[in-house]
Amino acid sequence: MTVQQIRLFGDPVLRTPADEVRDFDKELRTLVKDLFETMLDAPGVGLAAPQIGVGLRVFTYHLDDAESGHLVNPLLAFPDEEEQDGPEGCLSIPGLYFDTKRRLNVVAKGFNSYGDPVQIVGTGLMARCVQHETDHLDGVLFIERLDRTARKEALRAIRAAEWYDPSNPPLVKVSPHQTPGIFG
Ligand SMILES: [Zn+2]
Repeated sequence: MTVQQIRLFGDPVLRTPADEVRDFDKELRTLVKDLFETMLDAPGVGLAAPQIGVGLRVFTYHLDDAESGHLVNPLLAFPDEEEQDGPEGCLSIPGLYFDTKRRLNVVAKGFNSYGDPVQIVGTGLMARCVQHETDHLDGVLFIERLDRTARKEALRAIRAAEWYDPSNPPLVKVSPHQTPGIFG
């Protein structure tokens, strides 16, 4: 397991829709372990593969020991119309939090790293996390969920942030297979 560098706002990999996972193999399980370790190290409650530069539809989550795991190729469904509003942040936009509207309840279907079907039924923070991470797999950042005025404010805050570097070098991997050994 290796803690990977988390890509920051401005890196094109964060704007690129990730590919479906087709091979449920050892490399995928290494990717999940790396994601998990990187997420705990940050620390964060969720981390999606594009955030460590891998364009595959995988994310990990850890709210507490009971709500902890990973999901591959997630498909979201919303059992009702209820919404929640509250502060949301992102490891790729460090130190900044903005009130973000999300659905309150979500059912996420997908697979574990062995290809077995799994389902997450989430509410509150868990539902927020699942929506945030699935957005990452579609190349969507949470500031895009804000209304126009709030998004402008968020972009201003990002450009003023210490870490913001518009010359961030692009590096997009579409598969862990293309760079053998990088997960060692
Ligand atoms: Zn994020």
